[in-house]
Amino acid sequence: MDYSKYLHCNACKESGLYCQKHRTEVESTLRKREIKKILQIRDSSSAQYNHAIKGLLESYDIWKMFS
Ligand SMILES: [Zn+2]
Repeated sequence: MDYSKYLHCNACKESGLYCQKHRTEVESTLRKREIKKILQIRDSSSAQYNHAIKGLLESYDIWKMFS
C-alpha cells in the first residue's frame, strides 16, 4: 500500500493521522486485507479462523467508535 500520498495531504497532517476522506480509504483497504487473510484459512473450525474472525469484528467496533 502506498502511504506517501497521505504524507503529502495537508488535512492528514493537520489531523495528525488521516483526514476523514483518507481514513475511510485506509480502513477499507485494511478490511479487505483482513478478509482476504481469513478466506485463506481452509479449516473454518480451527482456532486460527476463530481468532481471525474475532479480530475482524473487534476492529469493526473500533472503526465505528472513531467514525
Ligand atoms: Zn488526507
